[in-house]
Formats: sequence, C-alpha cells, structure tokens
Amino acid sequence: MPEAGVDTRTKPAVLILLGPPGAGKGTQARMLEDRFGLVQLSTGDLLRAAVKAGTEAGKKARAVMEAGELVSDEIVLEVLRDRMQEPDVSRGVILDGFPRTTGQAEALDALLADQGQSIGAAISIEVDDDAMVRRISGRYTCAACGEGYHDEFKQPARAGICDKCGGTEFTRRADDNAETVAARLAAYHAQTAPLIAYYEAQGVLERVDGMGPIDAIATELGAIVERATA
Ligand code: ADP
Ligand code: ADP
Ligand code: ZN
Repeated sequence: MPEAGVDTRTKPAVLILLGPPGAGKGTQARMLEDRFGLVQLSTGDLLRAAVKAGTEAGKKARAVMEAGELVSDEIVLEVLRDRMQEPDVSRGVILDGFPRTTGQAEALDALLADQGQSIGAAISIEVDDDAMVRRISGRYTCAACGEGYHDEFKQPARAGICDKCGGTEFTRRADDNAETVAARLAAYHAQTAPLIAYYEAQGVLERVDGMGPIDAIATELGAIVERATA
C-alpha cells in the first residue's frame, strides 16, 4: 500500500486536442507545452516532416494531404508509433490532431492499455465553420522554431521577426487555401466529429469554446489540464 500523502504517480499524462482545422489546436498545444512541460505530438507535423524527408510514408501521404483528405490510419499510426518511442514523451503528451478516426481512437486505446496508461482528458475545441476559412487563410509559421502566427489575429510584436526565436523566415502550408479547407472541414465532420461522442462515452470529454481570444482559451485549457493531471 502506498503511504498516505505520497505522490505515487508514475504515469505520464495523455491529453487529446480535438477540433476542426484552424480551431487553435497547435497554438494551444504549444502553450501547454511551455506551461506544463508536456510534449506536443502533432501528426500533421510528423506527416509534413515525412513528406519533406521523402520517406515511404511521406510519399504515400503527400497527395492525400494536398487534397485535404485524411491519410490512412496505417500510415498515421506508423509515424506516431515511431515518435512515441522517443524518450521525451515520458513527460506526458498532448496529442494535437490525433486521433482523427474511430480506428485511430481504438488503436490509441489499445496502445495505452498495453502501457498501463489512460487518457486524462479529450478536449474538443469548438468553433464555427465560417471562422475556419479566415483562420486558415491567414495562418503562417516561423520556419526556424515552428511558432504559429496569423495575418490578423496573432502578429509578431515586431513585424517580420519571430517573438520566440528571432527568426525572420516564415512559411505557409500548401494545404492552407480556400479550396482545400472545404475538403478538410468535410473530413472533420464525417470522420473526426464522431470522436466527441466516443470520448463522452468514456467520461473524459471536455468542451471548450474556441471562438474567444487565444489567452482566454489557454486559461480554460490550463484549468482542465490541472484537473486531469492532479
Ligand atoms: P489548428 O492547429 O487547430 O489547425 P492553429 O493553432 O494553427 O489551428 O490556428 C489556426 C490559425 O488561427 C493560426 O494562424 C493561429 O495563429 C490562429 N488562431 C489560433 N487560435 C485563435 C483564436 N482563438 N482566435 C483567433 N485566431 C486564432
Ligand atoms: P490542421 O492543423 O489544419 O488541423 P494538421 O496539420 O493536423 O491540420 O493536418 C494536416 C493534414 O495532415 C490533414 O489534412 C491530413 O491530410 C493529415 N493528417 C494529420 N493528422 C492526421 C490523422 N490523425 N489522420 C489522418 N490524417 C492526418
Ligand atoms: Zn521562431
């Protein structure tokens, strides 16, 4: 029996950020990383890295991503499993953009059960479809450190210079255009939105209004993470 008052937690926190493209998952995941020392695992970032590196998985994923459709569960699980082998994930993870299908959610449950872990919270960031096009069309990222910005909603303090690392080069994603956004939203509603009920049934769902200012949402998420990891 553990002694009373002794913290016997050895299992890292597993938190999921659910939400349509542009909901603010990446922005919030990076803020939670800084605040709680958790590790952000973005399957979108992992897949873009695989495309850039020209791996087999990357070659298969490229056209699917450019069309705004979902990459197969098999490929996504392959890149995620590789990343989960790295030692830093023992600090606890924020899954950003994964799972996106029921198949992926079931695979995650099985993976966690094997490791004696469970989901602390699945947080659904809820936003209007209309806002998404504007969020995604204005999105850009620091090429050096990956910090996310927005033409209207999140500009660096000094124009053209990254707040985080001082970098001066920025990139825009190939799939962040109005035509592809429609396909990505359709994929979200058809394949990912059912996960809200999936996690509700598991008793781990938290809903957050994603239409407010970035800092207000961060405060709300911070409180959820504190509760989920207490
Ligand atoms: P996701 O990872 O869910 O696709 P991002 O975090 O990349 O979304 O956010 C999409 C874009 O919207 C980025 O340019 C980001 O700076 C901006 N953004 C994020 N959260 C908000 C918010 N609450 N209000 C306004 N703009 C936001
Ligand atoms: P966003 O931040 O706009 O939600 P992501 O960077 O998470 O976009 O994903 C970009 C693209 O990568 C998706 O449109 C999809 O093609 C692919 N992708 C990312 N994560 C997954 C996943 N879990 N399952 C299937 N495809 C994925
Ligand atoms: Zn930077």
